[in-house]
Amino acid sequence: MFFVPSHNGPGTPVTSTVMLMTTSASLPTGPEGAISPEGAVIDRLVTANERYAAAFTDPGMDARPVLRVAVVACMDARLDLHAALGLELGDCHTIRNAGGAVTDDVIRSLTISQRALGTRSVVLIHHTGCGLESLTEDFRQELEAEVGQRPAWAVEAFRDVDQDVRQSMQRVRTNPFLVHTDDVRGFVFDVKSGLLREIDPA
Ligand SMILES: [Zn+2]
Repeated sequence: MFFVPSHNGPGTPVTSTVMLMTTSASLPTGPEGAISPEGAVIDRLVTANERYAAAFTDPGMDARPVLRVAVVACMDARLDLHAALGLELGDCHTIRNAGGAVTDDVIRSLTISQRALGTRSVVLIHHTGCGLESLTEDFRQELEAEVGQRPAWAVEAFRDVDQDVRQSMQRVRTNPFLVHTDDVRGFVFDVKSGLLREIDPA
């Protein structure tokens, strides 16, 4: 995600950012450096899409996820959900935001996922080194001081990632709009090892 991870070790935030960006296969490496000029990055995505579409064949899928599962996860750029969970196109719904927090809008998506599109299981994934660990709810006051209004949303900052996963599981399990709340499991993804660690809901 867009915040500097709180567990950088000896590396500086700049080093960390460069390390992450160089995982992208076709970044410019010329004298202009790794940071694309304004506008160029989206052009690159559009070009990549043209290549994708040229090789794409309609798999003829239904909109309902094959595995009947919805995954709620942090938007962190180091978390490749499909690769990390062995998921294929069409397998699941992925719902992502800063922290993988179970907000009202995530509940909106989960409700539609379950009631209109047939999913039955919910997987919640937070991760090590999340940017939300380095923020507090003061972030809202800082925004208010800067722009003159306080956001309606909570920052959903946290200190204890395990506890945050437990809270997220609880929010899903107790939500009245959801019809399938038995198979809800929460995990912490380790961005260094790639492994998931399951969190006991108790
Ligand atoms: Zn995160």
